[in-house]
Amino acid sequence: MNSLFGPAGAAELAQLAAARALYAFDFDGTLAPIEPRPEQVRTPANVMRLLQQLAQAAPVAVISGRRRADLVTRLPAAVRYMVGNHGNEGGPAAPDYDAMRAVCSGWRAQLEAWLATDAHAHGVLVEDKTLSLSLHYRLARGRARAARRLEGWIEQLSPPPRVIGGKLVFNLLPPGALTKYEALVAIAAAERAQRVLFVGDDETDELVFTQAPPHWLTVRVEMRRSSAARYFVHQQSGVAMLLDRLVRSRARHDADA
Ligand SMILES: [Mg+2]
Repeated sequence: MNSLFGPAGAAELAQLAAARALYAFDFDGTLAPIEPRPEQVRTPANVMRLLQQLAQAAPVAVISGRRRADLVTRLPAAVRYMVGNHGNEGGPAAPDYDAMRAVCSGWRAQLEAWLATDAHAHGVLVEDKTLSLSLHYRLARGRARAARRLEGWIEQLSPPPRVIGGKLVFNLLPPGALTKYEALVAIAAAERAQRVLFVGDDETDELVFTQAPPHWLTVRVEMRRSSAARYFVHQQSGVAMLLDRLVRSRARHDADA
């Protein structure tokens, strides 16, 4: 895993500008810093400005675990693909929404019944995103104990969810849900993209890094030896620097063309 801002990364960024490229990003922890509560998260002003500029020059996709209605309030209008619910809401590939909704509301009722009777899970938040559920335990008093409690409950849910871990959260996706990777492949196909950049910071993004074909430029926020991404930027604030490079290299290429 190399720094994106080293020589090899710089060469790949230049190739990206010369190609028909799709620029794709995760949202929380990637375009915006993590906050204790998801509703407190704000996209930094420089990221908003640079993302708008990039999106005016090339197709940009943001794929998030948030609901799409929430995501769109946090991004500049020029972003072509704002896809919520881990790739399931608002992209070119649409799964069976009615079936997913019904499964999520059944799970929610069951989880809330368990939560109401268990003091060890106090502080756990069930976020119902209609097509998926997020169980946040960041605010639980004993996080490790709350996480074990949740894992036990998740095992008992019917039908069994696909569980995607994250930063102090379990995301539950119903059967038939798309993965973030499948959603990205559909967007890349819709754009007939020759190259894809994907930047992310979390376990869900690792699933994309693992499956990405070798010509995709995969970037992890925060270096992690076990990551399947080919490059890293040191911290979330490095993403603004990356956007700045992308905007400049696109502008240089378009001026030369
Ligand atoms: Mg993230």
